[in-house]
Amino acid sequence: MSFSSEVKNEISRITPEKRCCMTAELAGLLRSAGSIRPEGEGRLGVSLSTSYPFVARHMKRILSEATRENPMVYTTKAPGRYTKNRYEVRLDSSDAAMSLLRETGIVTQEDGLARIGTAIDPSLTHTKCCRKSLVAGFFLGSGTVTNPERGYHFEISVRDDVLAGDLRRVLGAFTDIKAQVVRRGDKFVVYIKQAEQIRDMLGIMGAHASLLKFEESRMMRELRGQANRLSNLDGANIGRLVASVKKQIAAAESLLGNPSAASGAPPRAREAAKLRIRYPEASLNELAKLFDPPVSKSTAYKRLREMEAQASIPQSE
Ligand SMILES: [Zn+2]
Repeated sequence: MSFSSEVKNEISRITPEKRCCMTAELAGLLRSAGSIRPEGEGRLGVSLSTSYPFVARHMKRILSEATRENPMVYTTKAPGRYTKNRYEVRLDSSDAAMSLLRETGIVTQEDGLARIGTAIDPSLTHTKCCRKSLVAGFFLGSGTVTNPERGYHFEISVRDDVLAGDLRRVLGAFTDIKAQVVRRGDKFVVYIKQAEQIRDMLGIMGAHASLLKFEESRMMRELRGQANRLSNLDGANIGRLVASVKKQIAAAESLLGNPSAASGAPPRAREAAKLRIRYPEASLNELAKLFDPPVSKSTAYKRLREMEAQASIPQSE
């Protein structure tokens, strides 16, 4: 089961307690997974569609609670072996459909004419409880969230840019949530990339078990990231070490290869040069012990630096 479907499964088990929240969730569902069906003779119905059987059961449950009707669920097997079934939850009663569309702010009355609006009705977003249910409805209808072991991405796609902008504002009303909108084909995608914000979204929608799982995966991923950074750092250290030893050998060769420079250099620098060439693989610690008499690591380091400085003095004829 994908992480998205786990989250949807968890949210599907929650039925809003208050009427206001139920209406808000239905608005989210209708906006993201709903369509208006002409039934002939000026009558209409609404349907909600999903590829998740548990979401379909949830849609049927809250539709029937909100309308006191008995919506039917139709299953369509799409052609092809790997395509998922689709479930369509249909509310056929024209009166019930019409009042639901009005209540959810989808159909408005203007100059005696019924119009389908694209904006989210402000009455659905006054209170936090309703905003949570609205977002849960949207997510159940057209949301996805990436498995936190693979990355951080949360999105809800809608068909209209005005609606996408409204949804972004609704999300922005929750503390620290900053969603973005991008166009993808004929869809407008409201998305979040930050791990903390995605975690908060799971909590907002009531997916608490998924939130815990998300946090656990995120912690493991960050620990792995730290381990990777540490080993990269080791790699960088080794790289730097090899480069500095190469430089020391080049300096030693140039110093000893030039008699006037060699004779002008202090004996300790000449000794450092000889040791460096003889023991190219020796660490600083090992090299320190090879001096006669042995010296400390920091003294060996100073002598190597001095040797390099002597080698870089420009020689007159
Ligand atoms: Zn409410």
